Amino acid sequence: MRRNRLAALALTISAIAIPLIARQATPAPKGTPSPGADHHDRQPQDIFKVLPLGGGVHALFGRGGNIGFFVGPDAVLVVDSQFKDIAPGIVEQIRKVSDKPIKFLLNTHHHGDHVGGNEIFKQFAMIVAHDNVRRRMLSSPADIQRDYPAMIENAKKAGNEQMVKNLSDQLEWAKKVRVEEIPAPIMTFDSELRIYIGDETIQVWHLPPAHTDGDSVVYFEKARVLHMGDDLFNKVIPFIDVKSGGSVKGYLAALDRVLGRVPADAKVIPGHGEITDVGGLKSFRQYIADLLDAAQKAKAAGKSKEDFLNEVDLPAYKDYDGYKTRFKANAGSAYDEAR
Ligand SMILES: [Zn+2]
Repeated sequence: MRRNRLAALALTISAIAIPLIARQATPAPKGTPSPGADHHDRQPQDIFKVLPLGGGVHALFGRGGNIGFFVGPDAVLVVDSQFKDIAPGIVEQIRKVSDKPIKFLLNTHHHGDHVGGNEIFKQFAMIVAHDNVRRRMLSSPADIQRDYPAMIENAKKAGNEQMVKNLSDQLEWAKKVRVEEIPAPIMTFDSELRIYIGDETIQVWHLPPAHTDGDSVVYFEKARVLHMGDDLFNKVIPFIDVKSGGSVKGYLAALDRVLGRVPADAKVIPGHGEITDVGGLKSFRQYIADLLDAAQKAKAAGKSKEDFLNEVDLPAYKDYDGYKTRFKANAGSAYDEAR
């Protein structure tokens, strides 16, 4: 039951999300070589790499969305919690850097690879996020019961036994869980929030719908470090969760808003991929712009969605993680939104 809950949180999102998140929920087996590995297939020795970024801000790489944490004189603030099973290990890593109390956990959005560890953190930290993060986490049992039976049938038809099992486990969880057991944020905001720790100001900005409709980014003003959540996949093809209110065009709006606010020398923690800078933000914006451009041209030429998806190709991004698995889904969403 407890394990199911973890797995369920990892999968508590839309149908399209499942392949991505299901992969994230499974650690790479020991010693498995990972040629052309997806960014989630980190080898055990790479789990829990901590990288100081200056000004008390650190990046922590594990098995889900990248974590950021800030060590102040009297408190630690953490951004995202990955998965429940590795959350105790995450806390242990933070403890190696500071023994100050972990007082705050910010969730950048509701996906299981960013909130799965909430259950561990809620024992000592105030969990804070945008209104829609709480709303989507609490509605997940109902959403799963509505969407998963059809998905299980599809997985059966496709002969994907692992998927059938994963989805069936989640459905079982959704039928049994009490909503009050879900470790959702207990403090939410609708636009912006600032938290003051020592002489650092931590700004949290809700952005236009991009990855989901509950996305926030976190800016550490004095340290000049920005945590983008999944509004930035660095050299990784994004997952655009349209079912959870995400939008390809919205990604442009969100990225433009961020680019208009952060200083040119800011360090940037992406939701997935390696640490980058404002240049990395701009490269990712270019990917979204190129994707929309291709979709718009196809639509203007009267091409059907099917024809567009058969031929669409953006060679400049072929070496990005997830090009084979997520690019076509991105292109389909871009076509739907193109005019
Ligand atoms: Zn996500």
